[in-house]
Amino acid sequence: MALTGIEIFKLLPKTNCKECGEPTCLAFAMKLAAGKAELSLCPYVSEEAKAHLEAASAPPIRTVTIGVGERAIKVGGETVMFRHEKRFENPTGFAILISDTMDEAEVDARLERFKLEYERVGLILRPELVAIKCESGDAGKFAGLVEKVKQGSDCSIILMSDNPDILAAGLKACADRKPLLYAATEENADRVAGLAKESSCPIAVKAADLEKLVELTTKLTEAGVNDMVLDSGSRTLRRAFEDQVIIRSAPLTKQFRPLGFPTIMFPCEMTDDPMKEGVIASAFVAKYAGIIVLSDFQGESLFPLLVERMNLYTDPQRPLATTEGIYEINNPDQNSPVLITTNFSLTYFLISGEIETSRIPSYLLVMDTEGLSVMTAWAAGKFVADAIAPFVKKSGIEDKVTHRKLIIPGYSARESGGLEEELAGWEILIGPREGSLIPAYLKKWKS
Ligand code: SF4
Repeated sequence: MALTGIEIFKLLPKTNCKECGEPTCLAFAMKLAAGKAELSLCPYVSEEAKAHLEAASAPPIRTVTIGVGERAIKVGGETVMFRHEKRFENPTGFAILISDTMDEAEVDARLERFKLEYERVGLILRPELVAIKCESGDAGKFAGLVEKVKQGSDCSIILMSDNPDILAAGLKACADRKPLLYAATEENADRVAGLAKESSCPIAVKAADLEKLVELTTKLTEAGVNDMVLDSGSRTLRRAFEDQVIIRSAPLTKQFRPLGFPTIMFPCEMTDDPMKEGVIASAFVAKYAGIIVLSDFQGESLFPLLVERMNLYTDPQRPLATTEGIYEINNPDQNSPVLITTNFSLTYFLISGEIETSRIPSYLLVMDTEGLSVMTAWAAGKFVADAIAPFVKKSGIEDKVTHRKLIIPGYSARESGGLEEELAGWEILIGPREGSLIPAYLKKWKS
């Protein structure tokens, strides 16, 4: 359970040395309690107090890591029911299903589709996991497929079988990837727990209902298994949805630890219709799935799911920002127009999209306004002549173009006079107020 500020204060050194950046230990304790400071900022906390504070501040839903290296994925670690209360921490992972009864061409095609990725507002959106399912009952065949997937991709892996011998064969082929073992059930829990402990891999726990799931996780916790992912066994949208809400709220609101783990969902087992599967998956991105296993990846359903995930797992208190700099669009040269905007990602995305549509080679200067849009940044004094001029000078745009004309957003028109004073030799042009008018505006451009 989370400690109060006063409880934390009792564990601090109480010297008020200010090295943590706060004027007193009490102020630091209050910030820690509010989740606005890191314990590591105080160099004088005793090891005993540290252990106590870290245990007390562990998230009620355990963070589970699957995989290794760059493609490793963390799930769980959530602390709130609703995004606006704080933020969601670890984005849902997407897995593509590959079975050992599929022919080689189909397996190759799926591994190829696993590589689908998209750039959006400066971020690369892509899936993380391959779920390898044994349907043949043949341990050797399963292990061969695991080996093939491992050689063909740096993905994180889910091994799927109810048979511990088959899981063991798959695990032998990819233990170094730290796969998720799916699944420990009432029948095989002891043996799957043994595999998990030997290999330090996480396991998925599957039961017929929530009550049985609680019994199983309690038993596995007592056996020393800590990293678990839950499958409540529900395969209808309504029951699965209800289970998801209960599994999220029990540890958060009742401190009920047996359900304090991330979940794995199978829209691929809830419908045969690919579009319905995408809709079901989208419901579980919003309602708490740690991992979603899809029957296949197709761009038209994967892309919206990746965008939904990105939108839900950004911090609602921090605007999404694009990196400051010069963006070259449609291969510009020294005569191309130069536009400027702020680094609010949506603004950048809209403006760069309109410039791209115009097909006019252009430079877009994106200025760091801490992720604020043009109007908000202007009102906050971050997108005004005094700030814009030094940015333009240091941006390096003067080395890229021979003309000295700068197109500013229509909403910043009142900064044009100040900018002409600050940017000697530059002519300031007022661009359109609406992004959609940019293509027509650029078509009239003459350097
Ligand atoms: Fe107190 Fe530690 Fe901060 Fe110093 S660094 S004021 S001891 S909390």
